[in-house]
Amino acid sequence: MSLDVIINLGKKGLEKLLAVTQQEIEKNIEKYGKRKEISFPETNYYFPLAYALLNIEVKTLDDLLTVFEEVKKLDKNQPAKNGLFISYLDGLFNKGMATLLCEEIIAGIKTLNKEHPQDGFLGFIPDRILRSLGVQLVDGRIAGVSVILGTTPNKDIAENIIRGFQTRSIVSLLVGNIEGKTFKKQLEEKKVELGLEEYIVSLGEDYLSAIYAVNFAIRAPLIYGGIKPGDWKQIMEYIKNRVPAFVLLLGHIDEILVATGLGVIALGIPIITNLDVPQIGKLETTLHEALVTERDYKKIVESCILTRGIKVKTIAINIPIAYAPAFEGERVRKENLYVEFGGRKSLSFEYLVSRKLNEIEDGKIEIFGSDIDSLKDKIMPLAIIVEVSGRKMEKDFEPILERQIHRFINYAQGIMHIGQRDMNWIRISREAFDKGFRLKHIGVILHAMFHREYGAIVDKLQVKIYTELKKIENLLIGAKKTYEERDARIGEMTDENVDTFYSCTLCQSFAPNHVCIITPQRLGLCGAYSWLDAKASYEIMPSGPNQPILKGEVIDSKLGQWENVNEFIHQKSNRTVEKVSMYSLMDSPQTSCGCFECIVAVLPETNGVMIVNRDYTGMTPCGMTFTTLAGSVGGGVQTPGFLGVGKLYMVSKKFISAEGGFLRIVWMPKELKEELREKLEKRAKEENTPDFLDKIADETVATSMEELLPFLEKVKHPALKMPALI
Ligand code: SF4
Ligand code: ZN
Repeated sequence: MSLDVIINLGKKGLEKLLAVTQQEIEKNIEKYGKRKEISFPETNYYFPLAYALLNIEVKTLDDLLTVFEEVKKLDKNQPAKNGLFISYLDGLFNKGMATLLCEEIIAGIKTLNKEHPQDGFLGFIPDRILRSLGVQLVDGRIAGVSVILGTTPNKDIAENIIRGFQTRSIVSLLVGNIEGKTFKKQLEEKKVELGLEEYIVSLGEDYLSAIYAVNFAIRAPLIYGGIKPGDWKQIMEYIKNRVPAFVLLLGHIDEILVATGLGVIALGIPIITNLDVPQIGKLETTLHEALVTERDYKKIVESCILTRGIKVKTIAINIPIAYAPAFEGERVRKENLYVEFGGRKSLSFEYLVSRKLNEIEDGKIEIFGSDIDSLKDKIMPLAIIVEVSGRKMEKDFEPILERQIHRFINYAQGIMHIGQRDMNWIRISREAFDKGFRLKHIGVILHAMFHREYGAIVDKLQVKIYTELKKIENLLIGAKKTYEERDARIGEMTDENVDTFYSCTLCQSFAPNHVCIITPQRLGLCGAYSWLDAKASYEIMPSGPNQPILKGEVIDSKLGQWENVNEFIHQKSNRTVEKVSMYSLMDSPQTSCGCFECIVAVLPETNGVMIVNRDYTGMTPCGMTFTTLAGSVGGGVQTPGFLGVGKLYMVSKKFISAEGGFLRIVWMPKELKEELREKLEKRAKEENTPDFLDKIADETVATSMEELLPFLEKVKHPALKMPALI
């Protein structure tokens, strides 16, 4: 196949698609009328491609005609709205973009008519998934996104490819079929667990569903980059540099796929294929080659990574099973269970403590009691004790390191770890056992991973594993005492009794102007970083994303403004933000990147605020869902009245304290309330309103202002009597 052939195929593909698109629009307008509303589920970005590239908000069938007019211009090689036009290769790529826009229209119509999502597939990817992936992408737990089109000759190859991506922390989106066979089916036959947690998401069994990967990627610049819709040049630049996505095209090609491919490449996403196609080298929109052939299935994963320029950190640990972040969320089900510990079925705990340097023999792993070779019972008691030492180790770092045990053990394929401290639950699968996994390997994992990630503070480390009940009971008494001391210590820490805050700029790879300021009483908005975490991270990586900020002169203690903090923000936000109040929602509030756990929003009529978490998909009293609200909060800009926050900030004494704090809360989803109940009740008591929780409305009593106000009056909510918020 030569480049001419490709060009001709692409032209033909688009021709076909144009006809179908026009037909579909007309047919559906006839059926429903022009005013019929149309949308994809749970997104604030309308038809994301049309919105991002053309700044057209598709809300009705009529709007599809508007988009289609622009499509026709692109097809004729004329600039579309906002000057959208790619000139090189004689404007060939305009055909590609026209193709993508058509496909988005058709997919939208299919969604309207409930033909998408197909059974067992996700279809359109909601905003919240992109948001939940944000932090994982910036901290490297996700290294890239592969869009896999088609299938392999047999299921073993399919499994090898997917394992290749998983162990390299690459999320795979599955699309298409060859003669009715899908990649998804091939993996299911190999009993590979599918799901976002496992880094595998199936979008659809038709090729049209590839559009969902594209209109997923194109939302990143809007959500995180603060780039305005219609600013297509910047959007393409962003995707090229910051969205590590690529297409792996396997075994099947037709003219529409060629046309689609041209569009994908135009957006900066390269294609790797096992098909015989002409190679296309680096283009303006791509970082490296645009189209690459790799016939050897064994090399195909490497080739993808190289072509997209993804930096992969694989983890080599001497254990008999695979090990990677992709296996973190994987469950071990009853049918596959070999042995389990904890989970309320047996006594089990984990504990990390620091010792003097000479008390530890690095790498020593001891098992006290029987290992798991010959089991009497599938349930056993367990204690994991990790002893560390290091010149830069501090007592304060113990709980932070201890919390990593969960993640480190979970990365092992076939091992499940849930919870922490004496509430943990560990399962080992039969497969892992058969491959030779034994208790000592838990020690091997912990030893390797603590050195790898915390080498700057951990010089030496040894692990003791106990399976004798009596011994475990005794050890737990001491551990429990320490757990309590640690909680008390963290509870005591205030912003006043430290002189240094920490920044986090991890999210700047996506939201270039966003800075989180992390204080003892306010954690990062993603919920993943507390002040202690940031402090430890600084010790580990002095030039990393967490920098100490000596507070300096206080400017306003009520708002929570300090000279040095403001200066830091100004500098690190690329001079876009001049000052930030740590304790205010209304006056220079902190910016948001996009990965906030919750949004706080002012409800002027109630003189209070509502809080909604990412997992709540229903309506809120401000008339917007989380998704819609989130659309106006991200991108590294200040939005007085709206704030992205980490869940736990809500129970801090510094929670919007400039505006009166905790007692301003008038509404939150029930699930969130239940999740934090204990902590909320404690806070309510501190505010001398022990029954405050009953005064906070949730969706069972109100999802609109009309319902909310009478409720607040009825329960005599304290916010009603507080000073006016606005
Ligand atoms: Fe991003 Fe802020 Fe979380 Fe850091 S603390 S990862 S900047 S959201
Ligand atoms: Zn973020």
